[in-house]
Amino acid sequence: MWYATCLEKRTRIVNLPGPKSAVHHISQHACQRVAPVVAGAVRPWTDNRRMPHAVSQLRADRLTHSVKPFLARRGSRSPRCAGCRLLPSHCLCGLRPMVPTRAGMCLLMADIEPLKPSNTGWLIADMVADTYAFGWARTEVDPALLALLADPQWQPYVVFPGEYAAPERVVHAVQPDAAAPARRPLFILLDGTWSEARKMFGKSPYLAGLPVLSLEPDRASAYRLRRSRRNDHFCTSEVAALCLALAGETVAAETLNAYLDVFTYHYLQARNQQPVDPDSPAHQRLREAAETSAALA
Ligand SMILES: [Zn+2]
Repeated sequence: MWYATCLEKRTRIVNLPGPKSAVHHISQHACQRVAPVVAGAVRPWTDNRRMPHAVSQLRADRLTHSVKPFLARRGSRSPRCAGCRLLPSHCLCGLRPMVPTRAGMCLLMADIEPLKPSNTGWLIADMVADTYAFGWARTEVDPALLALLADPQWQPYVVFPGEYAAPERVVHAVQPDAAAPARRPLFILLDGTWSEARKMFGKSPYLAGLPVLSLEPDRASAYRLRRSRRNDHFCTSEVAALCLALAGETVAAETLNAYLDVFTYHYLQARNQQPVDPDSPAHQRLREAAETSAALA
């Protein structure tokens, strides 16, 4: 549904004691932060820049606990790259953007969302260093999620249409907290179908006290991999890009949208058994975004 890099120089996976045998993803950049993710099998990336990120960890965990195998509708029997979920012939891993962001992303993912090859939360985790991902359940909440929401370094926003929230909770801009201006925005994205997202929003008491960031995009969604009856239903990475733009991180926002374009292009070329053109308009857009980012670095 509509609503979801380190720049990590190095990452590593460690096992720490805690509920659900939590595996913690430790980012080793500026200040060592612990990004809690749920346990899961770790598979090697096809490049050495980063170890599996939060969404890939959540996917692995979901697969580990599946009673029956998840079968994507098309091409489920073909081997997939562990780094990008695409066919090896259409691998995207060498194109992962490297853009620093001050903002963080917290994905609450509906049950099978991490398993869908078209899920774009994965792209967010590829690019935004501080991306956290949790499976959502009505009857329980991961203590690591509660700890994240209580972490004073973050200023959390639930990203959701304001018409579904009490008016006093709704904001349309990302403003520094006057009492704590160093707090960084943490965008909570509800990643699932529209009905799943509404359920997550309404049945998660730990979100009830947080401001609701209601987006007012001025364009239609460009996402082409899932049909939606409404063109104002954005995919998760488009929502994340809108949030980054509101936070003033326009280069990161443009880069994430360009990366989505490239992902969509690779995905559809693979589906149509067509080769990838490295000079496609999508690739050019991503290169231009990378050049802009490099020029500002
Ligand atoms: Zn790949």
